[in-house]
This record gives sequence, C-alpha cells and structure tokens, in this order.
Amino acid sequence: MAAIRSGWVAPLGPEVDAFETEMARRVGTRYALATSSGTAALHLALLAVGAGPGTVVVVPTLTFAATANAVVYTGAEPVFVDCEPATGNIDVPLLADLLDRLSATGRRVAAVVPVDMFGVCADYDALLPVCAAAGVPVVEDAAEALGATRRGRSAGAFGRAGVLSFNGNKVMTTSGGGMLLSDDGELVARCRYLATQARQPVLHYEHTDIGYNYRLSNLLAALGRAQLHRLDSMLSRRRALRERYTKLFAAVPGVRLLGDGDPTGNCWLTTIVVDPDRTGWTAARLGAHLNARDIEARPVWKPMHLQPVYRAADALLNGTAEHLFDNGLTLPSGSALGADQVDRVTTAIEEFLG
Ligand SMILES: *Cc1c(COP(=O)(O)O)cnc(C)c1O
Repeated sequence: MAAIRSGWVAPLGPEVDAFETEMARRVGTRYALATSSGTAALHLALLAVGAGPGTVVVVPTLTFAATANAVVYTGAEPVFVDCEPATGNIDVPLLADLLDRLSATGRRVAAVVPVDMFGVCADYDALLPVCAAAGVPVVEDAAEALGATRRGRSAGAFGRAGVLSFNGNKVMTTSGGGMLLSDDGELVARCRYLATQARQPVLHYEHTDIGYNYRLSNLLAALGRAQLHRLDSMLSRRRALRERYTKLFAAVPGVRLLGDGDPTGNCWLTTIVVDPDRTGWTAARLGAHLNARDIEARPVWKPMHLQPVYRAADALLNGTAEHLFDNGLTLPSGSALGADQVDRVTTAIEEFLG
C-alpha cells in the first residue's frame, strides 16, 4: 500500500533498491539485481559470462525448460547432462566426463548451469572444483531453491552468479519476477545496464548495445519485500507438509521421497519416486486417483532431451532423468494449503494405498 500511495508505481523506485539489498543480505551475496522473471535473470547472467554464438552451455536435462531456453536466447547451444537418482540434481562425475569430451572436441564451454532441483542444492562440494579445473564459470539456477542451504551457504550464492524466481508457483512470489545474485560487482553492473535497455548515461537516448526491458517494477518489489518478511513461516509450513508425507509413505515399501534425507532443502515440492515392482502400482495410477478427486499431482519435469524442441541437442545420459520422469509424482506442496485441504489429500492417498 505504501508503494501505491507514494506514487512510485513503476518502473523503478525505492522498493526495488530495498528488495535487492534485503535479498542480497538474505542469500549472503554482495550484490543483487531484481528482474522481471527468473528466466530474464538467467539470460542476463549467461550473457555476462560470455555465452553466445559459437559456445555451448551445460544444462541438466532434468529441469524446467526456462534453464535451456535462456541458453538459446544468447545464441549458445545447450548440451544436456543427466542427474543422480537420490536428488535429481546434476550428476557431477558425468558432468566431469562431459567437460572432458567437450574440451577434447574443441568446443568452447561458456558456463555450467546446475539447477537446485525441487529446492535441494546440487552437490557443490564436488561440482565447483570440477568446473574450476575446467575453467568454466557456474551460473546457479536456484529458481526453486530460495531458503535451501548447503553447509551453511544459501542457494543462489554458489556460482559466479545465481538466479532466483518469484513466479507464482515458487516459495515466495512477486506475482512474477526474479533476482540475479553475485559477489561480482562488475558482472551485476553489466547485467543492470543490459536489463535497463542498455541506455548510456547521457541525457539524450544513446545506445551502443542491444538491451532488454528486464527490471522489476517498484510495486512488485514491494510485494516481494512483504513476502520475504514471511518467507520463514511459509517455508516451515512446507516443511510440516513434507513431514506429513514422510510419515504417510514411511510404511510403504517401494516408495521414497526425492531428495529426502537432506534436511537443508526448502521443501518446494514434495515428490515421491515409485518402484512399481515393489508397490504393485505406478506413480501414474496414484496421480490419476488424485486428479479424479480434483487434487493436483503431476510427473516431474519432462527431461529436455525428450522435448521435441531439443531433439537435436547433444546430451550425455545415464537413464536417471527418464527413470524419475516415468516413476516420480509431485504432490500438493504449497504453503497456502489449509489443514482441511491437507487432510483431504492425505485421506485420498490413504484410500488409494488401502
Ligand atoms: C521457475 C523456474 C525458472 C523460471 O523462472 P521464471 O521466474 O518463471 O521465469 C527457471 N528455472 C527453474 C528450474 C524453474 O523452476
């Protein structure tokens, strides 16, 4: 309300500056740039590390399409790599193998973009040294992972740049928005310039680069600040819901929770992985049972190497992403679910299991 009453409706204004400062403090980076979406922040970060025509960017095949699309926007080519079964995060030994192969064939790798799948940080202890040894910068896609940590460091703070999303389906929202995070002041300044139509600092409109209209508006930043204030309570609601599901499935042989055993995740989405040989039923059957009761449940992301639009892309695979796509099911996980709604979901699952 203060943002509206102040007259600072759009585009930039004091709420944007404050939101950037507060988010940088929360994640533990020196700088932050609020953007119109997470995808826009990914695009800017990739441009800033040199992705462009003639380069390739390594992306996990198990992700939302925006990770790969941002690579294509720069003119670079995405190369997909498979994931590990426990978390669905990028398989680091396979990544090391891929970086060796790419360098052996003379491909210039502009970046590796690990995704913190469903809110669990990738294995940065292993990943960062592999990328450093190959001389390749890391752009962390932490769109799903705000609030997650690994060894006390926050999701979004691991790479040369990190990216958050405040889309409506993420742990907090600005109705639509994103954030680029980095300790590199020059990189952030470059992205800020590109995101603001690449306008030169003169009175007349002077342009020496192609820019973008990628900044977050003052009103939406105000919404983001209010959401950030509530973030921890929203995260604990998601965690409580995760605990309900954990108890519910603990007694069901052949069902595991993706990324479970990692208490440092943000519980963005609770996903079960079903072994139909042991359960006698498939993830798709439970999904259909819930959908028939007007309860949303979906497969995990369809891997990028299976997407018609990325049919021609290179990929180094081990079968895990396809296995998770075939056997995973994401369950209602939102922090706005009321106690009666959660009861309705768990009752429907119990009915199915019974
Ligand atoms: C949501 C999401 C994005 C895109 O964020 P937007 O703010 O919707 O543009 C990118 N990557 C991943 C992994 C996501 O889940």
